[in-house]
Amino acid sequence: MKTQVLISGAGPVGSVAGYILARQGIDVVVAEAAPECPRDLRASTFHPPTIEMLDELGVVDLLFDQGLKAPIYQYRDRSTDEVFSFDLSELADVTAHPYRVQCEQWKLARHLTGLLAQQDNARLLFNHRVVHFTEDSAGVNVALETPYGIDHYQADYLIAADGANSIVRKWLGVEFSGFTYPERFLCLSTKLALEAHFEDLAYVNYVSDPQEWVVLLRVPSLWRVLVPSRDEESDEWLLSEEKKNRVFDGLVGEGAQVRTEHRTIYRVHQRVANTYRVGRVLLAGDAAHLNNPLGGMGMNSGIHDAWDLCHKLIEILRDGAPESLLDLYDRQRRTVMHRYVQAQTIANKQAMEARDADEQARQREQMRRTLADDALRRDFLLRQSLFTSLEDAAAVA
Ligand SMILES: Cc1cc2nc3c(=O)[nH]c(=O)nc-3n(C[C@H](O)[C@H](O)[C@H](O)COP(=O)(O)OP(=O)(O)OC[C@H]3O[C@@H](n4cnc5c(N)ncnc54)[C@H](O)[C@@H]3O)c2cc1C
Repeated sequence: MKTQVLISGAGPVGSVAGYILARQGIDVVVAEAAPECPRDLRASTFHPPTIEMLDELGVVDLLFDQGLKAPIYQYRDRSTDEVFSFDLSELADVTAHPYRVQCEQWKLARHLTGLLAQQDNARLLFNHRVVHFTEDSAGVNVALETPYGIDHYQADYLIAADGANSIVRKWLGVEFSGFTYPERFLCLSTKLALEAHFEDLAYVNYVSDPQEWVVLLRVPSLWRVLVPSRDEESDEWLLSEEKKNRVFDGLVGEGAQVRTEHRTIYRVHQRVANTYRVGRVLLAGDAAHLNNPLGGMGMNSGIHDAWDLCHKLIEILRDGAPESLLDLYDRQRRTVMHRYVQAQTIANKQAMEARDADEQARQREQMRRTLADDALRRDFLLRQSLFTSLEDAAAVA
């Protein structure tokens, strides 16, 4: 069976990539290992440039219908009770969408795969796992494991959007350079109205604390509470009632009364593939890079990869543009991944976990200065929402 582009993985990145290509008449196969788009509680923040892209794809109403607009996000300091509020409405001259939207990533993936299934030039294959591929002068030959046997496809290009453990990246032997944090992150979700316990709580809050920082994120039906583990804490302890009680004792008191809907442990990495292109195989999203979730940049930057890569592939496949555009994709997206997403998420984490009193005071002073100064504040808003990374990527030759 033949196709122009085969995409492994129908997470947010693979489904956006598939939909961009299908809308432009490219023949595309999206192969997803799972029986449906996994419904896990991972990304929930969509930044303004990503919302713009989804608007251009005609699917932004999904975010508005099933998500929450969040123009304001806050940094809170538990030791001084200071609240630093940043308001994206200030970027109304830059974007038609000056807010984040809080919406679970699986809602987007499921919506897009639903639309893909209706396109004549798209084939959406659940229960199809990419297990092997080879490349020759005719294209990429991909083996897909199905419940009934192995299917073979020949594609002009293969996009690996198969997530952090990408089998495609591993087969290519591409190094995934970087590091893994020693601590894990524990994510607890609850229907408890946290806003009743904090004054003026925004939908997105990064709370620094020398003992235990915490992120409070609202999605339509839940609050999500993200805390780091300590070295000595076992998985069993992290998922226990006692641990849950302690986390909520510290947040709202009477932790034992709080019911959680999910408890999940994540290992957190800062890693970037040494190349995003090997011949006709391209890496995008978590298959290409991983970062901590402080700032909500992983899925967003992955969707930006898909946007950039697919528009280049359309130029190549439809308009006969040279394949060297794919090297440009690698240079542009990898450069800004290092320069912005990696640098910013590492800095975000360091700021939240600072233990030294002088360092904490310096962080607070920096926040005050940023908020008080129009130019610094605007620069901060543009960087954190990834506008600056997109502008810089376009400038990479
Ligand atoms: C706690 C937490 C919070 C986060 N919050 C945010 C946030 O607010 N904003 C943000 O931008 N990012 C956030 N992230 C990161 C975000 O979840 C990821 O960056 C995002 O899921 C990457 O999307 P993806 O499509 O590249 O990979 P995935 O979502 O992992 O999707 C990969 C897909 O490929 C499939 N697959 C795997 N192997 C194969 C194979 N061999 N063949 C076929 N299919 C395969 C999988 O089943 C899966 O469906 C968060 C992460 C965590 C852990």
